[in-house]
Amino acid sequence: MSRRDPSAPEHGRLPADPEHDATAAFAVDPALVRRLTAGLRATSGEAETTYAPFTGQPIATLPVSDTGDVEDAFAAARAAQDPWSRTDLSHRSALLLDLHDAVLDHADDLMDLVQWESGKARKHAFDEVLHVALTARYYGRTLARHLTTRRVPGVYPLFTQTRINRVPKGVVGIISPWNYPLTLAISDGIPAVAAGNAVVHKPDGQTPLSALAAIELFREVGFPASLWQVVNGPGPVIGGAIVERADHVCFTGSTATGRRVAAQAAERLVSTSLELGGKNPMLVLADANLDRAAEGAVRACFSSAGQLCVSVERLFVADAVYDRFVAKLVKRIGRMTMSASLDYDGDMGSLVSQRQLDTVSAHVADAVSKGARVLTGGRPRPEVGPYFYEPTLLEGVSPAMDCFADETFGPVVSLYRFGSEGEAIDRANAGSYGLNAAIYTRDVARGRELARRIKAGSVNINEGFAATFASLEAPMGGMRESGIGRRHGAEGILRYTETQAVANQRLLPLSAPRMVSDAAFQKTITAALRVLKKAGRA
Ligand code: NAD
Repeated sequence: MSRRDPSAPEHGRLPADPEHDATAAFAVDPALVRRLTAGLRATSGEAETTYAPFTGQPIATLPVSDTGDVEDAFAAARAAQDPWSRTDLSHRSALLLDLHDAVLDHADDLMDLVQWESGKARKHAFDEVLHVALTARYYGRTLARHLTTRRVPGVYPLFTQTRINRVPKGVVGIISPWNYPLTLAISDGIPAVAAGNAVVHKPDGQTPLSALAAIELFREVGFPASLWQVVNGPGPVIGGAIVERADHVCFTGSTATGRRVAAQAAERLVSTSLELGGKNPMLVLADANLDRAAEGAVRACFSSAGQLCVSVERLFVADAVYDRFVAKLVKRIGRMTMSASLDYDGDMGSLVSQRQLDTVSAHVADAVSKGARVLTGGRPRPEVGPYFYEPTLLEGVSPAMDCFADETFGPVVSLYRFGSEGEAIDRANAGSYGLNAAIYTRDVARGRELARRIKAGSVNINEGFAATFASLEAPMGGMRESGIGRRHGAEGILRYTETQAVANQRLLPLSAPRMVSDAAFQKTITAALRVLKKAGRA
């Protein structure tokens, strides 16, 4: 990838205005787009233009795939997978560690694309770079631990030698969303290829360039060129064609689409891992450090303008500290800046699309019409960019309102008071999701106890979401309608493997030997079983 010229003037970092600068008609240099889309399998002859959430200007016109391209992508991926699956783990680890470096070296270029395609603030784009690097390093360092063949006790000690292999599933289908277009595209594919699979991947149609730029680095560091195939096109058609062919499907997106993907994969008896929606709660207990909780709430609620699967949309605050906490939070939110620039000068970026803006506006309007109060925010900000919406805090939200239980997926958070901690847990557990939760308390032991009672795949104490998410050894994913399966840790890579048991039986047969009657055999084996149990054997 080319590096951006560091000597470019500061105003060069602002989105250009195509009305006054003919060369700025496309937000991203067409030569870069041509180079990146060369890695895309798309021969339908159709093309789709994507638009920058910051300005509404066109980003690029991108070729669209058809189902024939998906077919070809699977054929190429299958051909690449077989030799790849026989490479040494140490070779794969070295490539992953090189990918870690390459991603950090090209962070600015990657963040530019992420910002153009998603409209998020630069610091939230950096979170994506960080997560890809962490994931590459984690699996680079731990690959052998997860995948090396293990010896396990055989049925007869010494006489049965049993080993467990982890063999790749084959070709993994990855379908990823627009909200974290770099890391949700790449970080689930890293363990897939590390485990010896190939990948056929459909990024969201709004954000394929972020994914393609990272995949270019993946190829540059030495992964086989055909190992990670990318297609682009409408979800039900191209995503559906992937689900029809993959040996495992890794899907990140909405719960509604996740259900369809799971049903389609189930027809084929193919495994899935699904990372879906959430309506994540944060609990601020009476003993919490309120400044720290307010700071954490701002990050947890408004990272990526709330378009983050693990972001907090419900804040439960102990009665005793409610007023003080809310005053601090309102003050902090009031100081937040929004910016449509490629620099670190905004605390929050844009929503991705008119559709997201409509959902956010409708949730706030519905809540206000039914009696909720806006403590801060509550308005679109078209003068900053077409889809900007203020960070918004609502009070008095009731079950009749859409934002009570439905995921807004935007910068809108509801505040609730609670009396007892038991009541807070019950209310946090209401609803159908179970992705992430946060607890602010000075009593960490109490926080850990309460965490066990929360129905969420991750619980962060004195942090909103990043402590668990960035701890790569800890599996991450959803309970209930927030998903099936986990990314990160052992589970994040073993999902892409089949377990294979290989046992070698020597000397002693597993049935009565020729000179021994079945009855005598039964007696001997029964005695042996009793001895083995006494000896503590599993
Ligand atoms: P979406 O479900 O509409 O789309 C996700 C992806 O699926 C896109 O690439 C889309 O093109 C594709 N797709 C759409 N229909 C399909 C079909 N029938 N078959 C196969 N693929 C299809 O979701 P979205 O609006 O892009 O993303 C927002 C949602 O994703 C939110 O609900 C959010 O909570 C969730 N999300 C979850 C996580 C997580 O890790 N749990 C992370 C990010 C986003």
